[in-house]
Amino acid sequence: MAEETPIPRDFYARDPEDQKLLLQETWCDHCQQVGLGMTEPVEYELFGIIFIEGKCCQCGETVMTELTDDDF
Ligand SMILES: [Zn+2]
Repeated sequence: MAEETPIPRDFYARDPEDQKLLLQETWCDHCQQVGLGMTEPVEYELFGIIFIEGKCCQCGETVMTELTDDDF
């Protein structure tokens, strides 16, 4: 049985405006707050869904954004 492995994508290939928005519009589970922002974004695709993973600007915990079809 084949395991799904994440397919890396280039976050920095995105439009600079998109990058800015994506880095701002976050949800942090740890802080329980939206829009704290993230640093060190890593983008990848898994199960046909695009994820952007980074670190919360406030607490440094991992935050993850899941992009739906509407977003790209
Ligand atoms: Zn946080």
